[in-house]
Amino acid sequence: MSASVTLENISKRYGDVEVLRGIDLHIPAGQTVALIGPSGSGKSTLLRLLMTLERPDAGRVLIDGESMWTEQRGGREVPARAAHLRRVRGRIGMVFQHFNLFPHMTALRNVAEAPRHVLGLGREEAEQRAREYLDMVGLGDKLDQYPGKLSGGQKQRVGIARALAMRPEVMLFDEVTSALDPELVGGVLEIMRELSARRTMTMIIVTHQMKFAECSSDRTLFFEGGRIVEDGPSAQVFGQPAEARTRQFLEAVI
Ligand code: ADP
Ligand code: MG
Repeated sequence: MSASVTLENISKRYGDVEVLRGIDLHIPAGQTVALIGPSGSGKSTLLRLLMTLERPDAGRVLIDGESMWTEQRGGREVPARAAHLRRVRGRIGMVFQHFNLFPHMTALRNVAEAPRHVLGLGREEAEQRAREYLDMVGLGDKLDQYPGKLSGGQKQRVGIARALAMRPEVMLFDEVTSALDPELVGGVLEIMRELSARRTMTMIIVTHQMKFAECSSDRTLFFEGGRIVEDGPSAQVFGQPAEARTRQFLEAVI
């Protein structure tokens, strides 16, 4: 299952720094969007907002039309209670650059942990689910390994399996290959490509891998200074960017 994502006039500042400046964006359910742009342009902040880790100063976030920070009560729109926020957050999964696996737990337990303790599944069911997703990311033979014995690429694949095991409708990937040795990047990108092709989730991918963004996403957003500078089908944004700033950026990074 996948959900649409809508941002309405989202602004966010840290002190004097305006990090997001009135973002309007609608991502239909099942779409894969690549988010590219210079460092410091607000890409991670946007994902953290979607993950409910940050709260916007103004504007609305909607998941499948449902407001994240407010809820309906007695026919009125009121600030969301913790239970509402938890439920909305449960629809979204995120994979970070640094995988933060529990070092004292096997790959299997790392993945089974949240289904067990957040979703309340029994041990058997949680572990069966963990096996299913570790298998999906090609780690069916590493279930009993501790993170210390896994390569960076394998750890990141455990990180992806861990997010998938919560069966999110929207998946956010923040530079998940940036900390990996070059020879390990391809395997992780391949998994993301397969997930995107399945169309079972809405995906937003922040990446510096331009070839990957071009070939594996439906749509690319070029982000700069807290604004969406360009938004179009990936083939067009990479092939014939409409904005001079996008062209300059692509020329500098490719
Ligand atoms: P990107 O992911 O595109 O590199 P970020 O969203 O991480 O950009 O950051 C955008 C801007 O917000 C940067 O100038 C960064 O220094 C600032 N910023 C991010 N998080 C915080 C924070 N928690 N407190 C203060 N400033 C922050
Ligand atoms: Mg970032």
